[in-house]
Amino acid sequence: MTDTLNPLESAQLQIKKACEKLNLNPAVYEILKEPQRVIEISIPVKMDDGSLKVFKGYRSAHNHALGPSKGGVRFHQNVNLEEVKALSTWMSLKAGLLALPYGGGKGGIAVDPKKLSDREIESLSRGYIRGLYKYLGERIDIPAPDVNTNGQIMSYFVDEFIKLNGENEDLGTFTGKPLILGGSLGRNEATGYGVVITTKYAAKKLGIDLKNAEIGLQGFGNVGSFTLKYLQEEGAKVRYLSIRDESEECGRSALYSEEGFDYESLQKYRDEHKSLVGYPKAKKISDQEFWTNKFDILIPAALENIITEKIAKNLNVKLIAEGANGPTTPEADEILKEKNVEIIPDILANSGGVLVSYYEWVQNQYGNYWTKEEVQEKQEKDMTKAIEGIFEIKDQYKTDIREAAYMFAIKRIAEAMKLRGWY
Ligand code: GLU
Repeated sequence: MTDTLNPLESAQLQIKKACEKLNLNPAVYEILKEPQRVIEISIPVKMDDGSLKVFKGYRSAHNHALGPSKGGVRFHQNVNLEEVKALSTWMSLKAGLLALPYGGGKGGIAVDPKKLSDREIESLSRGYIRGLYKYLGERIDIPAPDVNTNGQIMSYFVDEFIKLNGENEDLGTFTGKPLILGGSLGRNEATGYGVVITTKYAAKKLGIDLKNAEIGLQGFGNVGSFTLKYLQEEGAKVRYLSIRDESEECGRSALYSEEGFDYESLQKYRDEHKSLVGYPKAKKISDQEFWTNKFDILIPAALENIITEKIAKNLNVKLIAEGANGPTTPEADEILKEKNVEIIPDILANSGGVLVSYYEWVQNQYGNYWTKEEVQEKQEKDMTKAIEGIFEIKDQYKTDIREAAYMFAIKRIAEAMKLRGWY
């Protein structure tokens, strides 16, 4: 095998292995290997210079055995059909392991949003909903933010959806909304907060002292930034941070801070400069120095396929927490297994986002809103319950955390499909 497996093939491979280990009817894999519905649309946008551009948009609904599809929409130049399918598959597993009443969904638009004006982004967002609204709804398919999308984009989605449907009740069709439009406290922070909940739990199990651990973080977007914030609150230090850096050939460099990074200060610099390049309270190091450094804990929190075979061979780390979706290729995963590196897989580590999206959906239906403390307390309880169940399977089947998480999630989906008479 080479590093050419696309994310869908790697998701399929992981599902196959888990189904075999659970000794499930082969029909389960046959159903789960492809999404149940995939839609591709063309979105025409009138650009500011008067020209017309047509963008490709996608939405995949992986499996509805447990409920409506749920998952984010990303705006990124590399978005493609296979990627969206894979990401929707992972969403089914996240919902399964957290016992949420959802199947997986995911969507995206192939676009580099940095090249568009605010008006063009708004027009593109509205066009996405115009193309898909018949397939969305709080009981059908519920989008949320993902890479390069946020509460503002969700607001355009809500507005366009409500215009097309002529009613004002379906706030729960989208999650990750701003508070004033029915969002939930704690949703913005939820993914990073969950990465820290799972990291804390696994570190304790593995005998790693979080406060003295050498931690490396890749990415300072929504997931990376809140991961850093909550690690800092735990008294842990992130001293290595890998960032985007257009001045480098590989597009990345890293920062080193002897005393550990401060969330507020990074955030402030990034807001002012739109990038962390040149952040004055740290020393610049190369991307390669970052990936070959000795870490207790490494947290990739950017995009998929970052930890390749080549990187895995040189990694010197005890625990990896996958803040991003699919950051480790299957080949790299094998190498890391041989090196006895423990990995908290994406479907567990970053599942806090969809969990709090679920709380938002529930709150929208009741019209009753919880405090941030209530949300975070509940998030910690629900995620801890899932990790405990996963570690039980890990010990019972003598396997790694990733496979145990897949098995834990697939068991639930398979049971629902069986009861529904799908196999
Ligand atoms: N985009 C996030 C994810 O990949 C959140 C999805 C959601 O909240 O529905 O898990």
